[in-house]
Amino acid sequence: MEEKANFVDMRRMMVENQIVSRGIKEKRVIEAFLKVPREMFVPEHLKECAYQDGPLSIGEGQTISQPYIVALMTKALDVKGGEKVLEVGTGSGYQSAILAEIGCDVYSVERIKKLAIRAKKVLKELGYNVKIKIGDGTLGWDEFAPYDRIIVTAAGPDIPPSLYNQLKDGGIIIMPVGDRYFQDLILVKKIGDRMEKKNFGGCQFVPLIGAEGWRDEEEL
Ligand code: SAM
Repeated sequence: MEEKANFVDMRRMMVENQIVSRGIKEKRVIEAFLKVPREMFVPEHLKECAYQDGPLSIGEGQTISQPYIVALMTKALDVKGGEKVLEVGTGSGYQSAILAEIGCDVYSVERIKKLAIRAKKVLKELGYNVKIKIGDGTLGWDEFAPYDRIIVTAAGPDIPPSLYNQLKDGGIIIMPVGDRYFQDLILVKKIGDRMEKKNFGGCQFVPLIGAEGWRDEEEL
């Protein structure tokens, strides 16, 4: 699929001004961000805003996360390609695409059917083989466990216990823990029976761009 040149430029600027300038320099992460067309994961009327420094509405009261947060969580996951990754909260499918581009085998759970169907369609169109399930991601996805990495993209009060159980020894979970307005990015590493916890720092609520999301005629 031929992409409009201005999106390629916007993507390069997003990577330079929002990601590299804030200290994320890992080659695999940068290359994936330069390749995945973020505009494909947002509603038609928000495509021109796809590379702005904030989250965007994708409808159903949900958002595609700010590019920097996606990059920070991807960096924290420390993936090199080949890892089996469980994502909780497929949303637009953008984070799944970034991980798939790095070479991870991605399993993603989304509780909202419309979002799951749309994400699956876009990911398939772009050639990413991401497995998506509709359901409550706090229960994980037992069928394919254990996972090398688990990324939770929806904030919650704590890391759900079933996710610990589905993590391999030596594996990593990353999740924003907190409420709607302020969250700490918590990373947990499983070492035998022990859990090593690290706080990656707080992230404040960023005002949403475009509260409407997808328009009806774009629904599947
Ligand atoms: N990773 C997404 C992306 O790249 O667009 C961002 C997702 S958005 C910030 C969080 C998503 O998590 C929403 O789509 C929401 O419906 C979903 N979600 C929240 N709680 C969930 C749960 N318990 N199980 C599955 N999905 C959940």
